[in-house]
Amino acid sequence: MPKSSRNKKGKGKKNSVKGKKENLLFQSPRGMHDILPLEQPWWNKIREVSQEVSNFYNFSRIDTPILEPVEIFERGTGASTDIVEKQMFLLKSRGRDRLALRPEGTPGVMRAYVQHSLSRLGQPVKLYYFGPFFRHEQPQAGRYRQFYQVGFEILGGEDDPVYDAQTILAGYRLIEKLKIKNLTIKINSLGCKNCRSVYRKKLQDYYKKNSGKICKDCRRRASSNPLRLLDCKNENCQAIKNQAPVMLDYLCQQCRNHFRQVLEYLDDLGMPYNLDSYLVRGLDYYSRTVFEIFAENYNVSLGGGGRYDYLSEMLGARKTPLPAVGSSLGIERLIETMKAQGVNEPVRNRAKVFLIQIGKPAKKKALCLIESFRSAGIKIIESLGKDSLKSQLRLADKERVEIALILGQREVFEENIIIRDMKSGVQETVPLNKVVEEVKRRIK
Ligand code: AMP
Repeated sequence: MPKSSRNKKGKGKKNSVKGKKENLLFQSPRGMHDILPLEQPWWNKIREVSQEVSNFYNFSRIDTPILEPVEIFERGTGASTDIVEKQMFLLKSRGRDRLALRPEGTPGVMRAYVQHSLSRLGQPVKLYYFGPFFRHEQPQAGRYRQFYQVGFEILGGEDDPVYDAQTILAGYRLIEKLKIKNLTIKINSLGCKNCRSVYRKKLQDYYKKNSGKICKDCRRRASSNPLRLLDCKNENCQAIKNQAPVMLDYLCQQCRNHFRQVLEYLDDLGMPYNLDSYLVRGLDYYSRTVFEIFAENYNVSLGGGGRYDYLSEMLGARKTPLPAVGSSLGIERLIETMKAQGVNEPVRNRAKVFLIQIGKPAKKKALCLIESFRSAGIKIIESLGKDSLKSQLRLADKERVEIALILGQREVFEENIIIRDMKSGVQETVPLNKVVEEVKRRIK
């Protein structure tokens, strides 16, 4: 607001605050986006491919609530993780239940598995989900506060490495089917409770010895969550990190065998991977295999996941581990990568026919006529609110339809309709009761 328009009592200032508030009314919350009609073909494509891949690998769909008890994330994801410490959207219900907008899918799926005794079904149970997740992060490219994931989870049964390979495979094939190229998988093993605690101690000792050379966050992590030390991006910590002990050197025999077999499956499938001893994925429930999938020139992960055999115990559902492994992919990042790699926009199911109606009797007939096309499975568009031939023809042209059907007063009276070939401009009059058949023949 220009200074001159403010009065001494600050009335102008008040107005500007009000103006700002009103502007915010027409602004989606920070880091959360509308998905407008023009974007929908990309989303539909991913939904379609997710369903295809899930069907093929025999994952059944599960939908869990957007809100979950906070505790499943505190106990499962981990109280000292960034997600739980800093990023959850929290609310209290009127009954004073503590709820969170789900920041990730796995704890909710495990909760549902326990609640509905899915252990009584044939094991393992293979589930997939597709939906929105919420994290209060600093919004930037590829990082939002509401984002969508498709996830695959295999719960129960054996802790067979073949399932680790299959969850990676499902995510990888989904990305491939979207025509995203040059993928790599980063993979690591975090071992089991036994070997990891030996490694954690080694790592802690090493960092404590070097505590003068690391950042404040790392000094804190060294006592609260030592594995997260390997996530640190601070430049000053990189030299220390590069010399740090690595988990693979501390894996016990069973974990080593398990990991070797996962890698052998990936080799057999010809899937490109790199061992990455710094990959820890930050969440408490992971054990053994962890992985992330990247596309060339896109430096954030498209997806990731891992084994989480301890999650059901951490949630208090069992006294022994329940084998489980999963992966999830970020939909916005998939779309961004498709666009960046020049993948063609998925074709919309475009209508090839436009119905033009002129005059009241024609408008009255139009709705029923559209129904005949619907029954015949032919998509037809119209602009029923418009009356003039010119404006409707202009719209038909804009929609790039092949055929315009013109229904005027005279046609209604004579029970005819005009079929106009939009390319040649040639028009032909046909009986109204033959029009569906004739259009079907022409657009085949
Ligand atoms: P995570 O649940 O952190 O393992 O993430 C799995 C995938 O979800 C990532 O590889 C991203 O593709 C996507 N993702 C995670 N966090 C976000 C976010 N804040 N914004 C957009 N996508 C995200």
